[in-house]
Amino acid sequence: MNTKIYIVLIEDEKNICNFISTTLTAQGYKVSTAPNAKVGISLITSGCPDLILLDLGLPDMDGINVIREIRTWASIPIIVISARTQEKEKVLALDTGADDYITKPFGPSELMARIRTALRHSNSLHTDSLLTQRPYRAGDLVIDFEKRLVTLEGAPVHLTQIEFKIVSLLAQNSGKVITYDSIISKVWGPYADDNNRILRVNMANIRRKLEKNPAEPHYIFTEIGIGYRMAEEG
Ligand code: CA
Repeated sequence: MNTKIYIVLIEDEKNICNFISTTLTAQGYKVSTAPNAKVGISLITSGCPDLILLDLGLPDMDGINVIREIRTWASIPIIVISARTQEKEKVLALDTGADDYITKPFGPSELMARIRTALRHSNSLHTDSLLTQRPYRAGDLVIDFEKRLVTLEGAPVHLTQIEFKIVSLLAQNSGKVITYDSIISKVWGPYADDNNRILRVNMANIRRKLEKNPAEPHYIFTEIGIGYRMAEEG
């Protein structure tokens, strides 16, 4: 059977490249690796991968420009591999069209979780329409998008229209980080003021309503300097 999921990995650090490629191969994925952007892009154009893992710091081209180029002709999910100190680059990568990022150093389980999430979202794009989407469930939280109803331990939670929009956006992208700018433009519109204060105020209210201890959230996590990530369903 030749239905293995195919991943192209563009990474110039040999150790990381070997670690990722060994991990993915052991999990049953088919992997091709490229040590630079030029080889990576040619693998992508010739092989039509299901997912791309992309290091931002490549010898021949800025990773951001690689994303920009790929996005002119393909919507294949891209997960960026970045260093801990590259907050601005991560945000730029996400806003340029990357689907998620993973920060070095990372372990196999984190890598697999990111890949599964990205693949799940890329498949659901083709099958789910917004109106027929099934409810989101995680722990005691249920979000019914059709009924616009949020319940926690079976009791309805009263969210404002804006709060519901934010929670729905995050839940429909559960497991994926969504940048502040992306939330603001999707909730308030493309011409909204891009300062994050109003988003932070709304998020504080949402957490008060959804989380037992807002300082230790179970459902919506902060990725400092980048955005928010909603818990995976389950
Ligand atoms: Ca690098």
